[in-house]
Amino acid sequence: MNRHASAPVHSESEFPIVIIGAGFAGIGMAVELLKAGIRSFRIFERASEIGGTWRDNTYPGAACDVPSHVYSFSFEPNPNWSRAFAESWEIQDYLLGVVEKWGLRSHLQLGTEIVEARWDGVAGAWTLTTDDEQSVVARVVLSGVGGLVDPSLPDIKGIQSYTGEIFHTARWNHDFDIAGKKVAVIGTGASAVQVVPSVAPQVEKLTVFQRTAGWVMPKPDKLYSEQAKRRLARHPMLLRASRFLKYWLSEIMGPMIFLDSKRLSAIGEKGSLAHLHAQVKDPELRRKLTPKFQFGCKRILISDDFWASFERDNVNLVTDPIEEIRSNAIETRDGALHECDAIVLATGFALGLASAPFPIFGRGGKALDDVWADGAVAYKGMTVAGFPNWFIMMGPNTGPGHTSVLVYTEAQIAHAMGAIKRMMADNLKSVEIKQAVQDDYNAGIQGRMKHMVWTSGCNSWYLSSDGSNHSLYPGFAAEYVLRARHWNASDYEFASF
Ligand code: NAP
Repeated sequence: MNRHASAPVHSESEFPIVIIGAGFAGIGMAVELLKAGIRSFRIFERASEIGGTWRDNTYPGAACDVPSHVYSFSFEPNPNWSRAFAESWEIQDYLLGVVEKWGLRSHLQLGTEIVEARWDGVAGAWTLTTDDEQSVVARVVLSGVGGLVDPSLPDIKGIQSYTGEIFHTARWNHDFDIAGKKVAVIGTGASAVQVVPSVAPQVEKLTVFQRTAGWVMPKPDKLYSEQAKRRLARHPMLLRASRFLKYWLSEIMGPMIFLDSKRLSAIGEKGSLAHLHAQVKDPELRRKLTPKFQFGCKRILISDDFWASFERDNVNLVTDPIEEIRSNAIETRDGALHECDAIVLATGFALGLASAPFPIFGRGGKALDDVWADGAVAYKGMTVAGFPNWFIMMGPNTGPGHTSVLVYTEAQIAHAMGAIKRMMADNLKSVEIKQAVQDDYNAGIQGRMKHMVWTSGCNSWYLSSDGSNHSLYPGFAAEYVLRARHWNASDYEFASF
């Protein structure tokens, strides 16, 4: 039911707003607009359903590795999570529920991709072009396109000649029955640690190709009983307390995960190695699974059954580099041929934070990709000088390595709301971050990077090709929230009609 059927403050023709992407960020933004009485927005989503990550990642075992009491909107707490770390389908159900509850369907334009955006300084508006060549005018654009969306497909010699089934974790082929098959998994990142233990009991043989061993920590997962759910529903304070505790626990652990401190890393490494010893008895196997980079440098993996999977007779860990993919097998550098009926590419995503999601031309026709040629930068990850009235959700240097991404997203939504309300109240044509303010902010961010573990010598999607980090926020989430949630007018330049 739409809880906000009150009369619109502005009609679409007066102040059209476009949200791009109907994942958590886009949906959260839409709800906040409705809460402010603003109904003049449309959400464009290129897929045929909302959900983003949780629509796309349906591989066996797909779940969030952040506790659900924190990985949910603060304005939409959910006492009904079935377990501490909800599976992908349950998070997608939650998002679908939010869409229905707030009556967002009428604002949604599914199956429509925005392929270009152009700023019109005279009109104080963006002209967006859709994939079916329609033009859409927006006074404000809120871009929630996500950073980890498009699968990264490995460029392995011979991959085209493979005749078995091959698919990426984020494009799982549910028509292919893996039961009793010989399956290969390439990659051992956050997706692989969930896939491997889930498919291992079903397949005849599972061969896991590991290029870099990652640090794995225990997953304190548990089912919530019906009684516990009823208690949380009856006493919202308990749910808030659970969220508060889980959030602050992740913040307290944060420095161990993001600071370049040998002493703090050693604590994490010790915990992870104890976990490895408890899960794997064979010393040679343990040696192969032991990471060689500093704790936190790559994303910490959370699993209670990934390492233990290698104890199974039907699971084989391969650490020799892949040389070539043949029609029915993967060949490694030692000359071994690993036959497989299917290959699962758990090879991650082409980082969407580093470049414009489609050609975006700002003031003076400048392309965002040109502005970002030396690395993606934005003020607090959200606004870019030369690109007025454009707000990025989860933009450069806003990714968390240690806690729920939604904490950051909600701060960004609040920031954008501050700007939108001011624009509407004062009938402003444009708001644009001052170049000097943006530069100063990013100099500070990059200055702090040298104290972060991410550049301590490993290779990860966090880093750009020149080794710099334009992905993660170098600090506590709470600090980012305090800096980002308020929209300070003095940071911005205004133009009036
Ligand atoms: P990923 O962390 O980028 O891992 C990709 C894996 O594939 C790595 O082990 C990588 O090895 C390997 N790989 C890539 N190309 C290869 C090649 N040509 N040959 C052999 N191995 C290759 O990707 P992901 O596991 O999909 O996770 C991506 C991100 O998504 C995570 O960091 C996380 O932010 C998010 N995620 C979150 C959850 C969650 O529960 N919240 C779950 C899944 C994913 P190297 O390490 O050597 O590069």
